[in-house]
Amino acid sequence: MHTPHISYLTHAWTDPSRCPFCLSTLDDGVDAFPTHLSQSPNCSVEFGDWEEVVGEFVGDGWAA
Ligand SMILES: [Zn+2]
Repeated sequence: MHTPHISYLTHAWTDPSRCPFCLSTLDDGVDAFPTHLSQSPNCSVEFGDWEEVVGEFVGDGWAA
């Protein structure tokens, strides 16, 4: 298991006003998180991993 943080995040990400990967406070609005990812390569990579895992459970997905 090379991504042990994933299962933690899927349970812990209860605050949409914060990035679940670096815990930065996000701006309000639906674009806040995608914008943050675009500015934070590390978070973007982690989100990719996270989405791979969670996408199996969340049918409708995140991507617009
Ligand atoms: Zn972040």
